[in-house]
Amino acid sequence: MKDLLLEKYNFIKEDIENIKKEYSIDYNIDIVAVTKYASDEAIADFLSLGLNIPCAESRGQVLRDKYKQYNYDNWHFIGRIQKNKIKYIVEYSKLIQSVDSFEIAFLINEYACKIGKKQDILLQFNISNEENKSGFLVKTYQKDFESILTLSNINVLGVMGMSSFTSDEHLVNNEFEYLYKVYSSMKSNYSIENFDIVSMGMSSDYKIAIKQNANMVRIGSNIFDS
Ligand SMILES: *Cc1c(COP(=O)(O)O)cnc(C)c1O
Repeated sequence: MKDLLLEKYNFIKEDIENIKKEYSIDYNIDIVAVTKYASDEAIADFLSLGLNIPCAESRGQVLRDKYKQYNYDNWHFIGRIQKNKIKYIVEYSKLIQSVDSFEIAFLINEYACKIGKKQDILLQFNISNEENKSGFLVKTYQKDFESILTLSNINVLGVMGMSSFTSDEHLVNNEFEYLYKVYSSMKSNYSIENFDIVSMGMSSDYKIAIKQNANMVRIGSNIFDS
């Protein structure tokens, strides 16, 4: 299994290098390995490759369990944030990608203060307008965003978004383009240190995301599906 995982990871790496060439991109694009559907054996084998890239989980308790089980400390959180799981999420995440309200950010900040941590976060935007997706709405995020910037133990490092669940590449392209526009205007309107991460693109749409300026992609099935 180890060889196969490495082969799949290398394939994605190379593909990303080719996409960068195609679009004349010269900055780094980080791969986050999404382990939420991977077997224990696959995760163990993947970590034993020593790639040292972030892994990501979408449930708080599972994040805590995997952090401990694999004695690995480079995890991102990408799921819906339940208030009663915030302690796990803050304790075990390097980067929380899915902050979607002031209230959640406030509670994250509170727990981060308590344990003496500066918590890095991204703001998740709902760019697909699908009811079941979480995230700030572009129309109304501003007030919450400004409040979040005042929280002492939170660093806002960028944005995250998911495209619609569709085979319509044109729609996906427009959604990513839109998120990048929002990110750019946030970046130019507020002077925030290290506000540099644009996390968009998953197994099926990372190419489109990179074309639209993503510098972080979150890949699950393309690495872990057999
Ligand atoms: C599951 C998930 C991914 C990975 O999806 P794949 O299609 O398996 O690559 C990326 N981002 C988020 C927020 C997810 O929930």
